[in-house]
Amino acid sequence: MDKIRFATVWLAGCSGCHMSFLDLDEFLIDLADQVEVVYSPVGCDLKHYPEAVDVCLVEGAVANEDNLELIYQVRRNTKLLISFGDCAVTANVPAMRNMLRNSAEGVLKRGYLELADANAQLPHAPGIVPELIDRVTPVHEVVPVDIFMPGCPPSADRIRATIEPLLHGQQPEMAGREMIKFG
Ligand code: SF4
Repeated sequence: MDKIRFATVWLAGCSGCHMSFLDLDEFLIDLADQVEVVYSPVGCDLKHYPEAVDVCLVEGAVANEDNLELIYQVRRNTKLLISFGDCAVTANVPAMRNMLRNSAEGVLKRGYLELADANAQLPHAPGIVPELIDRVTPVHEVVPVDIFMPGCPPSADRIRATIEPLLHGQQPEMAGREMIKFG
């Protein structure tokens, strides 16, 4: 039987959700037997998201042009997309900058001009630093999401309870405090 093609993606998040994924400890060994990891910031150094991915965990909100491009690629090439953690599900911490006039220009001016102690100037490095988009959004406002796994970060137990049924062709039951509590 072909292994499940498994990916994880890191958008605008602190990587805490991926750290929690690593807390799966010995289950990671079971997982490695059952899936083929085809893309991930953890242990995979691939530049392009591959085709025909079965399951992908997406950490983080959509906050810049690179995030947008990647999430469209992910959706086109993934059967089951899981919003992984509160930043993916609600935009959470990265969306705090939306209070600054819902504009990339507003947040850049606040951070680099109004609050600067010296050498106030706007950063500009096209092609090197991705441009911010005006409003940070949760993943499902950009592409359809199949499963929502909240948590900041989701505990390793919750991550396991979400992905283990998928390995056996079943849907996880995303209900109750243990599975869908935020924070
Ligand atoms: Fe970090 Fe929490 Fe966002 Fe995960 S949900 S990326 S742990 S801030």
